[in-house]
Amino acid sequence: MTAEPTIGVLALQGDVREHLRALAGAGVRTATVRRPAELEAVDALVIPGGESTTMWKLATAFELMEPLRKRVEAGMPAYGTCAGMIMLADRITGGIEGQQTIGGIDMTVRRNAFGRQVDSFEAEVPLTGMGDTPYHAVFIRAPWVENVGEGVEILGRAETGPNVGRIVAVRQGRLMATSFHPELTGDFRVHHYFADLVRRAMDQED
Ligand code: GLN
Repeated sequence: MTAEPTIGVLALQGDVREHLRALAGAGVRTATVRRPAELEAVDALVIPGGESTTMWKLATAFELMEPLRKRVEAGMPAYGTCAGMIMLADRITGGIEGQQTIGGIDMTVRRNAFGRQVDSFEAEVPLTGMGDTPYHAVFIRAPWVENVGEGVEILGRAETGPNVGRIVAVRQGRLMATSFHPELTGDFRVHHYFADLVRRAMDQED
């Protein structure tokens, strides 16, 4: 039997503490990741919400962009929320000049998609594989997923709110992303789902 995995949270910027708490709630070990050596030490990574342009600049300054890309390419499970979703997108629109991502998920993500009038809002999102009741999702200057490639499973679309029908949760193999912030609500179903995905990935590697 495999030991509990250690899931890191990229701690350059954003709501790191909330994710650490949610992951602890899902029963895994946690660590913060700011340096390449810390990235090496974790089994999987959460990329939090915050500001993707700042996160990209800091990741470049901390020489983390290449190590992050390499680990994702090598099959490390990763979950991005909001700005983290942008970081895991192969393609983005609405980014700043030269903005780069880690990539990994074959999707186009539109940054700040919901516009200024609806900077933040809440909506009910039924999530595939995460229980029968819709997830009460909190969106803050959120992106949405404009389109996905064939290998990407759509886990959720907003069912209420100003964005009905928009894709807000996806998964491609060991990578997943949500436009919303499940670390803020106390309902840790999404973190449980990711922790299970990580446990299964580790079992395959034994
Ligand atoms: N708008 C932010 C960005 O572009 C994302 C907002 C968030 O993570 N809450 O990165």
